[in-house]
Amino acid sequence: MKKDFLQFFPLLILALALALLGFIWYQSDSFEKIYLAHIKNELLIRNHLLKSEIENALAKNDLEALTKLSWSIDENIDTRITLINDKGKVLCDSRGKVDLMAPHLTEDRKEIINAFKGKSSTSIRNSSTLATRMIYAAIPIQSNSQTYVLRTAMSIAQIDNVLIKVRRDILFFGLLVAVAASILSYFIVRSIRTPVEALRVNAARIAGGDLDTTLPVPAKGAIHDLALSLNDMSEQLKKRLEQLYVEKKKRDAIFGSMTEGVIALDMSGNILDINRSAIEMLELPGEANGLSFFTLIENEDLLKIVEKIIGNKEVVESEFTLRLMQERCIHVCGTALSSKGNIFGAVIVLYDVTQVKRLENFRHDFIADVSHEIKTPLTAILGAVETLAEGAIAEPENAKKFMNIITKHSGRLNSLVHDILGLSSLEIKAEAKERDFSNLKAASIINTACEICQERGDNKEIKFKVSIEDRDCQIEGDCQLLEQALINLIENAIKYSGASESIEINATKKDNNVLIEVRDHGTGIAAKHLPRLFERFYRVDKARSRKLGGTGLGLAIVKHIAQLHKGSISVKSELGQGSAFTLSIPLKQN
Ligand code: ADP
Repeated sequence: MKKDFLQFFPLLILALALALLGFIWYQSDSFEKIYLAHIKNELLIRNHLLKSEIENALAKNDLEALTKLSWSIDENIDTRITLINDKGKVLCDSRGKVDLMAPHLTEDRKEIINAFKGKSSTSIRNSSTLATRMIYAAIPIQSNSQTYVLRTAMSIAQIDNVLIKVRRDILFFGLLVAVAASILSYFIVRSIRTPVEALRVNAARIAGGDLDTTLPVPAKGAIHDLALSLNDMSEQLKKRLEQLYVEKKKRDAIFGSMTEGVIALDMSGNILDINRSAIEMLELPGEANGLSFFTLIENEDLLKIVEKIIGNKEVVESEFTLRLMQERCIHVCGTALSSKGNIFGAVIVLYDVTQVKRLENFRHDFIADVSHEIKTPLTAILGAVETLAEGAIAEPENAKKFMNIITKHSGRLNSLVHDILGLSSLEIKAEAKERDFSNLKAASIINTACEICQERGDNKEIKFKVSIEDRDCQIEGDCQLLEQALINLIENAIKYSGASESIEINATKKDNNVLIEVRDHGTGIAAKHLPRLFERFYRVDKARSRKLGGTGLGLAIVKHIAQLHKGSISVKSELGQGSAFTLSIPLKQN
């Protein structure tokens, strides 16, 4: 601003000087014109005043007297007097020698020619007699029936001197005014410049986004109002921007934290906006806004659905399978994006329904499995009851046989219900965040489980070989559940081992876990069954399992108990050689 002002100030001075010069020129020119007109008039008046005196002198025909008269008049009023006859001859002249003067009736002496034509006349030109610029006024006079011209003249140099003085005065005062105006304008500009400069600097800050800046408000004047208005505007702008920012933050937070994928597309299929869930679900690059959905996505099914959604006023719902890192089932719901009745794109919501589908299938399979498992013992019980009712009850031999069948299958049903309830209670515990865990010694859990299974082992003359690396090592968990898991593994080992074999139970520590291994030397399991061994109702040999009183849920229960304790269960087995199940539970953290 200061630089601008310095550039501007000389220009201002120049403009003032030019205006002043123009004014002086105009003024002195018009003053000269007025002054010359006034002199001409004055000379004509003098002519008329002298007219009668000259006429009288002419009447006497005394040229000498006339010449003396002209000298005396010239002396009194500082005016050259010339008298010319109709031949152009100069009869007398107050400043020149008549004998030396050429005839005056020449073209350049217009005042004389006009006067002889009967008109009073004036003119300005160089005098050949006096060799100076003169102003002339001539009038015709009559004497002795002859026409003469009386001419008065003044040197213009005299007038020029007056004009120069006048011009000098005007110039002096003009300069005085210019200097005063410059000084005044300097202070005026400076008084405007300071607030305007402050206004400009702060307005630039506001324009740069610093809306906390407040413009300085001068005490009064136009800039006062302007600064107030700008401050008000900036305040309003700040409020609006803050509102917009908060709204955007809210929208982004909602949009970003939605588990559903949301995509907004324009009519050409370009992505207007897309949330994090959609990017992750479709495995798109981080910044997908502005890119074409149709070039980014390769899944034909999804593209067909999106094509159907764009431009469609109705809600479109469909499902497709996404085969990327994992196979997932996605439900798509799309509708038109419109404003004031004009459709300008589409919004698509993607729900990952893989888990829902899996649960649906699981429930379906589970019901089928449970029904199937229950059906066999129920049919057996019903058959036995009917046979007894038909008369077998009266035959002690048969009655005993059918009562045994009923007892056996009731026991199976009981075990089944017991295991199903056990599993469901484990699922409930897994969902609950609170864990009712206590500090336990791995050794005491192993000992209790062995004690409980001892009788069954003894029945088959099976020996337990227990080896515990650290008898004091502690874990955090549910004592009953952990014992249950071990009992299931030991009972299986007994079930699938031959008589008089041994079962080894080893507890070791590894990587902050206690590993409890139950190893038998029984039938073993073929490798193809191992991946599905821990699924519910999965049995390698159904008939044998049922015969041995198994429900097919024992290992599933072990797996759930391990998971509840943030542990795991694994198996190594070889057909005909035996199996080794390892339960891994995290050690108690100190
Ligand atoms: P079940 O009640 O039938 O024993 P489990 O879930 O406990 O059900 O076991 C599933 C299947 O795994 C069993 O049917 C059996 O075929 C096999 N299995 C489990 N433990 C052993 C083992 N120690 N040796 C051989 N096979 C086993």
